[in-house]
Amino acid sequence: MRTLVPGRHGLDRFDRARLPDPLTYYAAELERLRPTGNSGRHASARCPFHDDTHPSLTVNLETGAFRCHVPECGAHGRGVLDFHMARYGLGFVAAAKELGAWRTTP
Ligand SMILES: [Zn+2]
Repeated sequence: MRTLVPGRHGLDRFDRARLPDPLTYYAAELERLRPTGNSGRHASARCPFHDDTHPSLTVNLETGAFRCHVPECGAHGRGVLDFHMARYGLGFVAAAKELGAWRTTP
């Protein structure tokens, strides 16, 4: 016998482990993504959230966190899901579906 335990707001369907690797995702989304520093963990690119002429956006390739260093823009987030939501104007569920991190079957 199956027991269905409904998750709050269906969040049980969200599978963070299925989110794309930040390096793979940002390499596809951002033009001329370049590593910064020597750690290999960070990279910068032109910010897609404002009319950027410099590589103002810094991304963490391990966590996916991103931040634009232009104060008037101030785009930031904790991971590729936040980025996807902000860039394409999507809600959480829609963004998770697009990124393949939403289970549509039990
Ligand atoms: Zn920006």
